[in-house]
Amino acid sequence: MTSATVQKVSVPDIAAQVTHAMRIMGVAPIPRNYELFYEAYIGSNPKLTRELAALGSRAAQEELDVIGAQYFGHHRVEAINGAHTRIVGELEALLQLLRQEQSSLESYNQLLDETYVRISGKNAASNEILKSAIDVLSEATGDTLSFGKEMVENVTQSSREMDVVRRELDEYKRIASTDSLTQLANRRAFDDKLAAVFNSPMTLNVTALVLADIDHFKKINDTYGHPVGDKILASVASLLRTHLRKDIFIARAGGEEFAMIIEGNTMEEARTIAERIRVALENTPFKNSRTGVNYGPVTISLGLCMASEADGPGELYSNVDIALYCAKNGGRNRTVVYDDGMKKDFAKNWLIYRR
Ligand code: GH3
Ligand code: MG
Ligand code: MG
Repeated sequence: MTSATVQKVSVPDIAAQVTHAMRIMGVAPIPRNYELFYEAYIGSNPKLTRELAALGSRAAQEELDVIGAQYFGHHRVEAINGAHTRIVGELEALLQLLRQEQSSLESYNQLLDETYVRISGKNAASNEILKSAIDVLSEATGDTLSFGKEMVENVTQSSREMDVVRRELDEYKRIASTDSLTQLANRRAFDDKLAAVFNSPMTLNVTALVLADIDHFKKINDTYGHPVGDKILASVASLLRTHLRKDIFIARAGGEEFAMIIEGNTMEEARTIAERIRVALENTPFKNSRTGVNYGPVTISLGLCMASEADGPGELYSNVDIALYCAKNGGRNRTVVYDDGMKKDFAKNWLIYRR
């Protein structure tokens, strides 16, 4: 089974297939192994898939961990993120405490001042005693106050340093949800976003999922080589980014397949957006400026379905996949909107489609 074949299955199917494959291969059902097989299954990293396949049918845990360590820095990132959240939380609580302390000292000083003013107007003999007592107290309070200020400055400085660490960790987090080749969101981030769509039932009828798959991409790889294929993938991704509205979520859903989540538009509007991107790509030259070789035209086929037509992310993805199949079947380089009637036709031909 090729990676491109596998990426077309719906989200829950992937989970079942991954678990099944792990069981058959005698791999321990632990999260880090699942993650490894999941990545291999969706095929977003062909090198990882090849290395995993090379381990054969009885891979040792140590061998799996070597691959895991190589490709999933995010295990460490998650641990770091947890620590980071705790440290920042504690630091904020400490700052809060210090601010309270300072403000209570400030009110104390104010109180002493007021008391002093009140006493000054009365009996002169006791005035002197009280005055000196208050002076002593004021001095002590002043010392405490400046000590408190110094403390706050120190903590503010630590907080600045923590901010640098926080920014570095944010960057790690970004890397963990970004596809390294295209710099778009990766499949993991896409799955999260798609699941989140169904948390707002009121907006499902103005939310569309679009899948775009490059036409005859295998031929591009076969003719010009994998590195050229990679460059074209990156260029298509950048074209999507520059032509689509900022709020449209774009991800690399798998090998040469991109997903877009369009929110706040009707089906017709979403179709227009999809068509606009299709035409833009069709008209974009893919020429090597050094050699003059023309790799184009590069075209995509697109499937579209409104979120309101599905019960959840799995069904939505599978509906869009059916529409995409119809776009391929209808001659490619076109956008097809899902309707229920397509399911029957797809059921008859899915084996061919999934090759
Ligand atoms: P169709 O029009 O039906 O989509 O045909 P296709 O050739 O695009 O589809 P197919 O699924 O047969 O092939 C997809 C190809 O995409 C095969 C695979 O090697 C290639 N591919 C997947 N990921 C990458 C990648 O990261 N880099 C490169 N260069 N090629 C990739
Ligand atoms: Mg393709
Ligand atoms: Mg494909």
